[in-house]
Amino acid sequence: MKKYALVTGGSRGIGAAIASQLAADGYHVIINYRSNAEAAKETLQAIEAAGGEGELLPFDVTEEHTVDEALEQWEERHPDEYISVLVNNAGVRSDNLMVFMETEQWNRVMGASLNGFFFVTRRLLKNMITHRNGRIVNIASLSGLKGLPGQSNYSAAKAAMIGAMKALAQEVALRKVTVNAVAPGFIHSDMTKDLNEAELKKTVPMHRFGEPQEVADLVSFLVSPKASYITGQTISINGGLY
Ligand code: NAP
Repeated sequence: MKKYALVTGGSRGIGAAIASQLAADGYHVIINYRSNAEAAKETLQAIEAAGGEGELLPFDVTEEHTVDEALEQWEERHPDEYISVLVNNAGVRSDNLMVFMETEQWNRVMGASLNGFFFVTRRLLKNMITHRNGRIVNIASLSGLKGLPGQSNYSAAKAAMIGAMKALAQEVALRKVTVNAVAPGFIHSDMTKDLNEAELKKTVPMHRFGEPQEVADLVSFLVSPKASYITGQTISINGGLY
């Protein structure tokens, strides 16, 4: 039976590396994105060129009804199948000191990481529970563990994601669904290209930013049978930066 993995924000950056790795691991990968169809098509083409398979499923994770509609339609097209792996990777940054932070910035960042996690996970959980098989990985952040100045919105969203992950892990443990988080430090992607890498990498004990593939390898492990007794955990991947 075909195994399906959904990666939200799978079109670019860390999500694209995760989607490619899961395809290489033998999953049919469902690549979600919000608006950049070009990047999503390129990611899918690269997967197919490498002998993997996948499909595109655009929806905005912040919109409850859009999420439900897209996943309902997917389920109608695949009446006998279900998505057993979910990687909640979609996220955005909108940094500002709190004193200047607009409500819109707060809501946008919370919407993508926290509400997105809730809407997509709630929808896919039912099938995982029924089949007694599931793997959920949330892409959190070092920012959600230690807090970073200028990122009160982002730190809050990622910390909340980790809290929800711990609660959910206990709710579904008996049903053989594991729920974990990954907390990357600085990783090369569009999200970090405006940062002063030369300065920031000095703060990392390994003196470099990480690569999306390094995060993808960790996610690949967490969704594999080798990680069957790991649940409710946050695994940092940050070159030693705390
Ligand atoms: P990125 O290169 O900016 O890519 C973000 C991805 O999320 C894109 O595929 C984007 O889709 C998608 N996305 C954003 N908002 C969405 C929405 N509302 N609905 C659906 N998809 C949406 O970011 P990245 O660096 O790869 O980050 C991936 C995840 O890792 C994020 O959760 C981020 O917070 C986390 N993270 C990143 C770092 C880092 O250093 N890069 C560190 C820690 C944690 P479109 O292409 O359509 O815009």
